[in-house]
Amino acid sequence: MQTPSPTCRIEILARTEHCSVGYCRRCNVFHVDLGTVSLKLHALQVHALGGSLNQALQVFKRAILQGEAPGVRPALEESIH
Ligand SMILES: [Zn+2]
Repeated sequence: MQTPSPTCRIEILARTEHCSVGYCRRCNVFHVDLGTVSLKLHALQVHALGGSLNQALQVFKRAILQGEAPGVRPALEESIH
């Protein structure tokens, strides 16, 4: 797990129950905290990650959720909102 440098001044840009995304102007990096995982990413990487996650979720909803038994879908759909 990467920890911020003591000189970092992280401005929180988005925070949800499970994830927070901050930005440090001194390092020019994003700090992405996801449970016990903490990532320091450059803007291009954040953009790539966001695009890939969105794409994966679309495929997941379309290809996987639609094939599940009816009782399974509400719990899975709820877990991705
Ligand atoms: Zn910093």
